[in-house]
Amino acid sequence: MQQNRRPGIRERLGLRPVINAAGTMTALGASIILPEAVEAMAEIAGEWVEIDDLQRRASEVIAQATGAEAGFITASTAAGVTLAVAGAMTGADLHAIERLPDDRGELPDEVILQAGHAINYGAPIAQAVRLAGARIVPAGEVGMVMDYHITGAIGPQTAALLHIVSHHVMPYGQMPLEEVVALCRPQGVPVIVDAASEYDLRGFLRAGADLVVYSGHKFLSGPTSGIVAGRKDLVRAAWLQNRGIGRGMKVGKESVAGVMAALKAWERRDHAGIRARERAALDLWLGTVDALPGLAARIVPDPTGNPLDRLEITPGPASGFSAAGLARALAAGDPPIIIRDDELEAGYILLDPCNLHDGEARIVADTLRRIHATPRPPDAMAPRARQTGHILGWPD
Ligand SMILES: *Cc1c(COP(=O)(O)O)cnc(C)c1O
Repeated sequence: MQQNRRPGIRERLGLRPVINAAGTMTALGASIILPEAVEAMAEIAGEWVEIDDLQRRASEVIAQATGAEAGFITASTAAGVTLAVAGAMTGADLHAIERLPDDRGELPDEVILQAGHAINYGAPIAQAVRLAGARIVPAGEVGMVMDYHITGAIGPQTAALLHIVSHHVMPYGQMPLEEVVALCRPQGVPVIVDAASEYDLRGFLRAGADLVVYSGHKFLSGPTSGIVAGRKDLVRAAWLQNRGIGRGMKVGKESVAGVMAALKAWERRDHAGIRARERAALDLWLGTVDALPGLAARIVPDPTGNPLDRLEITPGPASGFSAAGLARALAAGDPPIIIRDDELEAGYILLDPCNLHDGEARIVADTLRRIHATPRPPDAMAPRARQTGHILGWPD
């Protein structure tokens, strides 16, 4: 179905027919929305509904899928983090909720964040916290966080500890969630987990998190949205922010219905079949790259343990490409192929098979072969550009 529709609208709107070998990326449209979710969105689009009731039903679906006491849908994970932090500051005090982000120093407004968790997912996580009127209290240093860093950061102004689960997080020296919970719980400090990009909808709550924020549009393949799940009083306090700072993060009824459908579909999803398809793409790419002199490839597991492997391609000097040069060549290809580029400076690109349409794995393989056989562009060995001037000209 999507196969027929896609070229149509992209062509009509004058958009490049990009192939997504990067993963679930907001900059590429966030998700291929599941047909079940599209159907629910279309069905509710023309109906009046009472939003409180719709979100009550969403809370039930979220509770069922995550094991949480309650939950609600918001605009994005980033919005969910802001609302969760705001809720931890205000509780159910409507007057305080309207006053945010200016808490006049009367509310607990400090959020503890391990130093190696200060990530950027397209925007800084610290800013999502500050939007609520809170400030970040860093715990430890980028490569080393010990118990005393956490306990020493807890004080009378502590509203919450924010714990990030992500490949962006410093891969060593950080305190695992279980130990964070063991330090925070006796002090009454709620632990909010940003698990935007995690398959595991139950494990973080089971590990003692008080609130967990998920993306509705990453592995769940729902519409662009975020899911806040956890302890009922904290979920309620976060939900009530829709009468305050949450208004600018409003989610539409169609997205709420779409995520509910995606959550229900998740329980029935053919995970083994999806893995087998991804594996076939990886094997195809691995075989292709192995035959291209100067390029080395291996299949690597997901860094946070999601059941998803990727192909890591390291261009050696003999290839005539730097990692950034190879990424640029693929993005300039016909069709353009967008790869996972977080770790270019480490010398490799990653190909992610989780968002391909039928037939696209083959196109990626053919393009790799063609690029390798073509004379190198002048910037083939250049590192990633760190200049941002080209961004500033939008919309020109
Ligand atoms: C993607 C991501 C976000 C942002 O998610 P949105 O739903 O797009 O706002 C936040 N945190 C982490 C760890 C992410 O991976």
